[in-house]
Amino acid sequence: MAAPRFTGVRTFMRLPHVQELDGVDVAVVGVPTDSAVGFRSGARFGPEAIRSASILLRDHNPALDVNVVETLSMVDFGDAPTVPGYHLETLERVEAFLRPIHERGAVPLVLGGDHSLAIAELRAAASVHGALALVHFDAHPDVLDRYYGVADHFHGTVYRRAAEEGVVDPAHSIQIGMRGSVHAPGDLVAGREVGYEVIPGDELAAIGPAALGERVRDRVGDRPVALSFDIDFVDPAFAPGTGTPEVGGPTSFQALEYVRSLGALDIRTCDCVEVSPPYDPAGVTAIAAAGFCFELLSLRALFNGLR
Ligand code: MN
Ligand code: MN
Repeated sequence: MAAPRFTGVRTFMRLPHVQELDGVDVAVVGVPTDSAVGFRSGARFGPEAIRSASILLRDHNPALDVNVVETLSMVDFGDAPTVPGYHLETLERVEAFLRPIHERGAVPLVLGGDHSLAIAELRAAASVHGALALVHFDAHPDVLDRYYGVADHFHGTVYRRAAEEGVVDPAHSIQIGMRGSVHAPGDLVAGREVGYEVIPGDELAAIGPAALGERVRDRVGDRPVALSFDIDFVDPAFAPGTGTPEVGGPTSFQALEYVRSLGALDIRTCDCVEVSPPYDPAGVTAIAAAGFCFELLSLRALFNGLR
């Protein structure tokens, strides 16, 4: 309350922009890239928009009864280096940027960026923590094999690659919320082919948040978690600024309930991806994304509170 929230340089949650990791629990990192999308681009502007929307976030989460800012020491670590059009190079640079954060015991909160960045995020995390339990909210499974005959690293292939590379442990991983039109029957649950548990969108709506929380906790146990939140999990009425919108998703309220239902998780890396501000002149997508980032931080803060 010392200065109006709209003043100052716009870091995430008005955190200090430093690359100092002593005593840091969470380092917020932007990954401004959209070189690996199959439809609408613009997610390179996602990190900036989420940061700008996040300045209204305050310290305490009353729904989970946790004070994020008092529990976690957090910094805005800045943006990872990216090279537009040279996507494999981008992935290498992003991984190298994130790895020291893990080596120093901090948790990255990654602001995307298209979802392909998650392979770099997971490689960096797994290099220190081993294979992670993936908790993946998305309208899409992202387990396609290849785009256009050549593209192995694309936003719709990332969790097939992650399973193949062993940076996630599919037997303790879960995908949540898949919906929309598909190429063939079974596509929404295609993640089962690589070993993931899958709760598609219609089943999610039927079981509700309490049962979801139980299913996720049963699946991941006490393993280190990678939590990924693709903003297109939320209905495009609430998050229109994204590359591949799918109608018929949760409201932002329902999506908050789903995330909160997970409770304390040992999150070692997390992200909010696929925010494409040019398709959303009202900016509601970035407001939603900032809110979901706050919930992800809250789950980590709950876990720290248990220790
Ligand atoms: Mn995705
Ligand atoms: Mn998606």
